[in-house]
Amino acid sequence: MKVFNSLTNRKEELHDNSTPVTMYTCGPTVYYYPHIGNMRAYLFMDFLRKTLHFLGYKTNSVMNLTDVGHLTSDEDEGEDKMELAASREKKTPEQIAEFYTNCFFEDFKVLNIEKPEHIVKATDHISQMIDFIKELEKKGFTYKIDDGIYFDVQKFSHYGALSNKDLSKVGVNRIDENSQKRHPFDFALWKFVPKEHIMKWDSPWGVGCPGWHIECSAMGTYYLGNKIDIHTGGVDHKTVHHENEIAQNDCMMGHQVVDKWMHVEFLQVDGGKMSKSLNNIYTINQLVEKGYSPLDFRYLNLLTHYRKSLNFTFEALNSAKSALKSLKNIVLEHKNSNNHINAQNLEIYKQEFSEAIADDLNMPLALGTLWKMVKDMERSVEVYQMAMEFDKVLSLNLGQEDEIPEEIVKLANQRLEARKNKDWALSDSLRDEIAKLGYQIKDGKDGYEINKIWFLIYY
Ligand code: AMP
Ligand code: ZN
Repeated sequence: MKVFNSLTNRKEELHDNSTPVTMYTCGPTVYYYPHIGNMRAYLFMDFLRKTLHFLGYKTNSVMNLTDVGHLTSDEDEGEDKMELAASREKKTPEQIAEFYTNCFFEDFKVLNIEKPEHIVKATDHISQMIDFIKELEKKGFTYKIDDGIYFDVQKFSHYGALSNKDLSKVGVNRIDENSQKRHPFDFALWKFVPKEHIMKWDSPWGVGCPGWHIECSAMGTYYLGNKIDIHTGGVDHKTVHHENEIAQNDCMMGHQVVDKWMHVEFLQVDGGKMSKSLNNIYTINQLVEKGYSPLDFRYLNLLTHYRKSLNFTFEALNSAKSALKSLKNIVLEHKNSNNHINAQNLEIYKQEFSEAIADDLNMPLALGTLWKMVKDMERSVEVYQMAMEFDKVLSLNLGQEDEIPEEIVKLANQRLEARKNKDWALSDSLRDEIAKLGYQIKDGKDGYEINKIWFLIYY
């Protein structure tokens, strides 16, 4: 298996599959609904984990949930997202975290994203973070100023290696004159908070809360030890959050902790950034409300390599939807064929599929291989079985018939009859009845199409 390491800027061979791959993924801050861009990052994590499993690796992976709101901006400033959400929604920060964590994992469920082996909450690991900071302090990498304990980046000679930042070129004179920081890139490990702050903990330095970056270092090494094979996250985290994680980890352990960094490019909407003002921040639930299956979105994500930005448009989602439907139909033809062929004839496709995913997750190529196999090969149970093997990675529910219950078909036929008789009132009431039972009906030229309506309960 080869993966592109953002630290060295080249594809590198992963160790063989005789030992598990240790993996850390930066999780969400659970203060609001996750959007489809966030889900691109976690679909990427899922493709990676399932590819490793397909290639015979075991994984030991950790993902954190940031349920402490302080310092989530890169600059150690700004507002506390958790407490802001709590006051907006008149809930406690714990209730906010619980609700949005449920939303997050509901998205996982409907997108067929498998949860990593360890899901860990920041608030459950404050003592590990304090221990980590104490150790950095003992080793001389920290200093104290009025508002907290800071990491002294000039003490770490490799600082900036991931995003090619040269400390010497960013003079200390760039520091804001009110700041007591020694270098503009220094960051908070522990921040003192005012009395009225809800989320706060005791520490050897005073009451406060941990910095955001220390969370990932403390929990990653606590669960995975002082060597981590792969660390994943979105490209936005490369320049600050991950530089700071490297500094903390490597200064704490005295050696390079994370071997390979993998960064997923952003999802953009209509060629630009998602933003509130453009009203184009979509959630999975909103796609569902528009009549798409979450797996249409999963399919869309398979069409673009993770190191390229993905341009989300409804046009592209429509194509993904109809492609997935056709693919499923062909797979089902194989399933229902009762015909047998020599399974050996399919090894070439398996080889091609494995090579594609093992080459830094070339999912578009892997999907193309599946298409070629199901289209070119004689309809047979063996092709169906091989498609099911591939679906362990793709997770598109290819073998499941979207069976429509008889009751719904009956109502739909009654409605068709009503339309023929131009009884629009009856036709509309039957449509509503069908919708109440969880199905959406669309009229075509010579009949109708029924789709299951997905419901996401937490939204
Ligand atoms: P956050 O809660 O902001 O830390 O985001 C959770 C994850 O989603 C991080 O790994 C981000 O890098 C990633 N992310 C945020 N926005 C996008 C986007 N538009 N496309 C892809 N990944 C994103
Ligand atoms: Zn992180």
